[in-house]
Formats: sequence, C-alpha cells, structure tokens
Amino acid sequence: MKLSQYNNDFSYVDESQQWFEEILSRYLDEARSRALSLVAEGVVADTGCIETPTLDARKVRFRGRQLYAYRFIFCILTEMRAGYDDVVRHRCNNRRCINPDHLEIGSRGENLQDEREFSANGVDYTLL
Ligand SMILES: [Zn+2]
Repeated sequence: MKLSQYNNDFSYVDESQQWFEEILSRYLDEARSRALSLVAEGVVADTGCIETPTLDARKVRFRGRQLYAYRFIFCILTEMRAGYDDVVRHRCNNRRCINPDHLEIGSRGENLQDEREFSANGVDYTLL
C-alpha cells in the first residue's frame, strides 16, 4: 500500500496523519513558530477574523507538504494529527480566516452541512 499503512496496533493511519505525526514529534518548535508567524502576518477584521492578505485561503509549504494555512495552523497549535477525513472547519465561514479560535475539526459531512446552514442563516458572530 503506497499512501497508507497500519500502525503496530493495527489501527488505520493515513498519509496525512503520518505527516502530522512526524511534524509534531520531530519539528514541533519549528512548526509552532511558523504557525504563529503566519497568524501574526494576518489582518484582524471587525468580526475578529484574522485574514490572510490573499484572495482565497492561503497555502503554506512546510517540510515537503503544501496545505492550507488554516489547516496547518490549527493542527500544529492544537497538536492534532488530522487525517484525510478530518477537515478543519471555519466557524466564521471565512476561508481566509486563520484565527485558531474560529477553527475546529470536523468530518467532511459536517463541513458540507456548515455550508448549507451558512447559505440559509449566515454567521452568528456572537457564538464565536
Ligand atoms: Zn474567522
């Protein structure tokens, strides 16, 4: 199997989880300072969102992998070994936002549901 393998306890670990496992165990300090400097470069909006100065969600490259900055920042700061099915969700529905307080982990199904609810109701910032 190329993209996945089984742990010693036979639980399934995908390649995304393997990457986070390696980063969190070997390069945590470096990853943390990268994540914090990305947040520091963001622009704070009235909503409390910290937005990247990009048109869409910013991507970052770190240790051989390119991923969304919000995913990198959330997973590194919470030391989350996110797999392919674990999506980092924007509670504020602003994809350019990298405020860790506006992010949470969920499944792909929950993410789709967020998008439907946003279309219907918008965002209640008092809940963030
Ligand atoms: Zn936000």
